[in-house]
Amino acid sequence: MNTETKHEKVVIIGSGPAGLTAALYTGRAMLSPLVIVGDQLGGQIALSAEVENYPAFEDVISGFDLTDRMQKQAAKFGARYDYDRVVSVDLTHGPPSPSPPTTTSIRPRHSSSLLGLPPANWASPAKTPTGGAA
Ligand SMILES: Cc1cc2nc3c(=O)[nH]c(=O)nc-3n(C[C@H](O)[C@H](O)[C@H](O)COP(=O)(O)OP(=O)(O)OC[C@H]3O[C@@H](n4cnc5c(N)ncnc54)[C@H](O)[C@@H]3O)c2cc1C
Repeated sequence: MNTETKHEKVVIIGSGPAGLTAALYTGRAMLSPLVIVGDQLGGQIALSAEVENYPAFEDVISGFDLTDRMQKQAAKFGARYDYDRVVSVDLTHGPPSPSPPTTTSIRPRHSSSLLGLPPANWASPAKTPTGGAA
């Protein structure tokens, strides 16, 4: 069997709205993403004759036109398209990572207070000077 190895920074499998959005973002990050299109360019929504619920399109747009625009927009930022389908993916060693994994800390207490909700720490909620939960 004749195989050729290519290395890419970003490979996106599928060209539906999710894939094309990823292509736009990673394209804008100058990562030159490669989109493997799959059997349906534009994904499922490309089959829809009328899309009425897409933000910024107050008039009806066809799914084909919508995804055509998405594809061109991502291409403008360097996305490339390979009209092929993926047959297997080996993620046994995880995605390639040039740097050690980082941890993201979420502070539910802070965000919940912004939303006017009780703190996430239900066991011992801090008291405010007025007696309410912080
Ligand atoms: C008829 C119809 C009408 C719809 N109308 C609306 C609407 O009006 N408004 C709305 O908001 N939503 C609508 N939807 C829902 C909308 O289409 C989906 O929410 C949306 O397409 C999901 O996008 P996605 O990118 O996650 O996945 P998908 O659109 O499913 O895209 C998956 C992509 O992956 C590719 N792929 C699959 N396997 C492989 C493989 N092995 N290798 C490479 N690529 C592969 C496919 O070819 C495709 O490009 C409609 C759906 C249908 C079916």
